[in-house]
Amino acid sequence: MEIKKCVRCGGFFSSENEVCGICEKKDSIDVNKLKGFLLEELDVGTTKTDISHSTGITMKNLNRYLNGAEFKGVNIPEYKIENVEDNVVTKV
Ligand SMILES: [Zn+2]
Repeated sequence: MEIKKCVRCGGFFSSENEVCGICEKKDSIDVNKLKGFLLEELDVGTTKTDISHSTGITMKNLNRYLNGAEFKGVNIPEYKIENVEDNVVTKV
């Protein structure tokens, strides 16, 4: 059987998946959180950074899930395009 390196923890394993057995469980928990977020909390202007902060999923894992077939068609920007002038704090 082919020995692979787990994309999540870097451990070696042999399986058809891209992650090892331990990370497969962690992945499924994360994916469920992500699905819940997309269903309930996704808003206009939500970025990957927002999702990462709310769910605790790392950007690396988040990108991996979103690039997967399961989330095909889900397009979430990496960062907010902010209007710099809106962020200027007016001092009285
Ligand atoms: Zn792993």
